[in-house]
Amino acid sequence: MKRSIKRGAVIGSGVMGSSIAAHLANTGIPTMMLDIVPRELTEREAKQGLTLEDETVRNRSARDSKKALLKQNPSPIATKKSLDLIQVGNLEDDIEALADVDWIIEVVVEDLDVKQKVYATIDKYRQEGAIVSSNTSGISIEAMAEGRSEDFRKHFLGTHFFNPPRYMKLLEIIPTEATDPDVLAFMKTFGEDVLGKGVVEAKDTPNFIANRIGTYGLLVTVQEMLRGGYSVGEVDSVTGTLIGRAKSATFRTLDVVGLDTFIHVADNVHKEVEGAERDVFQVPDFMRKMQEKGWIGAKSGQGFYLKQ
Ligand code: NAD
Repeated sequence: MKRSIKRGAVIGSGVMGSSIAAHLANTGIPTMMLDIVPRELTEREAKQGLTLEDETVRNRSARDSKKALLKQNPSPIATKKSLDLIQVGNLEDDIEALADVDWIIEVVVEDLDVKQKVYATIDKYRQEGAIVSSNTSGISIEAMAEGRSEDFRKHFLGTHFFNPPRYMKLLEIIPTEATDPDVLAFMKTFGEDVLGKGVVEAKDTPNFIANRIGTYGLLVTVQEMLRGGYSVGEVDSVTGTLIGRAKSATFRTLDVVGLDTFIHVADNVHKEVEGAERDVFQVPDFMRKMQEKGWIGAKSGQGFYLKQ
């Protein structure tokens, strides 16, 4: 079968979903971005007399994420045309549109239950043969596909982009035993030739390759910082530009990633490993306290640094 991706859909329009949609649109592919329907009005919406039934409120999450793409630096959007190729909607009113899509990318919160529920819905509405992939940072691809149809499982795999997806070259691709070899081969070629990525095929082990090493390195750094009494600024100074890294250092990177996502990712490995390695993947209390206060990084305006 000759495959092509003529239309894409991204489910979840947060930090990664919106910028993956932008990257797909940058290649000229019309992409629908769907997110959840808000359960509460904002103060502004209430003042405007809007209700939870109004389309503008129902599409708020994806629409605000699309607008936010214009404010990011470096820009996730290549041209004005790319922005026009991103269509916004919500997972209740626009779900039937998935029937016209060749590649559906799931980019919702790093939580197996939430992802499995999203896949049950996708399985109902996707067209036979459509590729479905997850941007999970490290949840088992096999576990996410549990209970899904045979056609879904044949066309399902992990496509793990790195932040920011337009600029980070790495794309990990994670097949399961059920993934059709033609689908895997197609996605590797598509990832390299169309998306411009350097593709690495990874096994379906907790956090795959890059995040397993990256999370380990970051948590060891934090543990050493606590033992040695170093400050956030000191650690960032010696793990950033001064040692030849392009820009981000340890805690600046965490602010970009989102502490909530990082904690999910570390917890996922912590559950799966044993012995001394398990201690390393134990998230320090101060990070959980920061999360409780909502200090989760750029997306909330306060992380290790205040958003400039
Ligand atoms: P985020 O918190 O910015 O966005 C998550 C999105 O999921 C939000 O738009 C939210 O409305 C939506 N959502 C929440 N509950 C939902 C539900 N029940 N059904 C459908 N949608 C729901 O998170 P993110 O940083 O964009 O991460 C998304 C995925 O990408 C995660 O699996 C994460 O591990 C992975 N990832 C993140 C990064 C990063 O740097 N942040 C990098 C690589 C991979």
